[in-house]
Amino acid sequence: MATKLDYYAVLEISRDANSDEVKKAYRRLAMQYHPDRNPGDASAEARFKEISEAYDILKDDQKRAAYDRFGHAAFEGGGPGAGGFDFGGGLGDIFEQMFGDMMGGRRGGRRSGSDIQVQVSISFTEAFAGVRKPITVPTRVTCESCDGTGSADRDQGAETCPTCHGAGKVRAQQGFFLVERVCPTCHGAGKVVRNPCTVCRGAGTVERDRTLEVAIPAGVEDGTRIRLSGEGEAGGKGAQPGDLYVHIAVEPHPIFQRDGANIYCRVPLRMTQAALGTEIEVPVVDGSRAKVKVPAGTQTGENFRLRGKGFSVLRSSARGDMYIQVSVETPQHLTRRQRELLDEFEAEAEDHARANPESTGFFSKVRDFFEGKL
Ligand SMILES: [Zn+2]
Ligand SMILES: [Zn+2]
Repeated sequence: MATKLDYYAVLEISRDANSDEVKKAYRRLAMQYHPDRNPGDASAEARFKEISEAYDILKDDQKRAAYDRFGHAAFEGGGPGAGGFDFGGGLGDIFEQMFGDMMGGRRGGRRSGSDIQVQVSISFTEAFAGVRKPITVPTRVTCESCDGTGSADRDQGAETCPTCHGAGKVRAQQGFFLVERVCPTCHGAGKVVRNPCTVCRGAGTVERDRTLEVAIPAGVEDGTRIRLSGEGEAGGKGAQPGDLYVHIAVEPHPIFQRDGANIYCRVPLRMTQAALGTEIEVPVVDGSRAKVKVPAGTQTGENFRLRGKGFSVLRSSARGDMYIQVSVETPQHLTRRQRELLDEFEAEAEDHARANPESTGFFSKVRDFFEGKL
């Protein structure tokens, strides 16, 4: 077995990082190196395994303590490091966070911080290849000045509200009715701060613009929502943060259309090309070119399939196809000579039924119609 890296180095954290920092580092790195976001990249996959393994040890207080004392030796011979590391749990965990909504996953317990919704617009080709986008989120974060307590005197913290005695609501008689309303003293919090923090005015949180990078996976569709768990607003006074929802809008492309994982590209052909047959060069979304053989007698609406040139399917190695949809363009503004040639061409036609079966068939039905047969 190759020399193992230090778990703290793997997660890019200091040895005294708290459990929250461990979790945050894991989440950030695991998203970055997740195999689904780095298809075919063996080094990213190896890194992902390292990250998952390091997290499995460092998130567990007992295992972490053992690792701090004995290093990797703590887990050799029967430990989790020996018998093929199981990182399946980490994988599921991350996907639940990222795609929880797309997959119809459950929502975790109640949180105090609000969820934040942001919209990110990406190009058609970015949706094809996947992209990392920086987004700026106006968010409330825990006030550093008071450590989220809302109190200028941290040790004192908040006291039970004297008006509602912690209920957050007060009752008042209004005519015949007993009306319950939000406590005017504590605004529903149930607690008041005697000496409020001057930075956050007792709220425990402050508003700040935060920039974070969202990794948008290849194959993402217009209207997809990605949930980043815990990246929403901080909850007041040490409560759980909300989630961040990133709504993806994919801009339309001037020459490509999408239907599921398949891509369609409408290619106009000159009448002569369609009649005589030709080879055309067509664009592929990844920026490359492909050649398509168009046989003689090709009609408008015929499709030519380029296998595997479509979008990748999320969470799978499957790929859609690309379809070249041909439309035959009738020439306009003919020169005198072209007109002569086409007149000659028309006069040359011997068997219309053979050369143009569709129009011949149609007009014979029209004849039948007028004769009362149809
Ligand atoms: Zn109150
Ligand atoms: Zn404060």
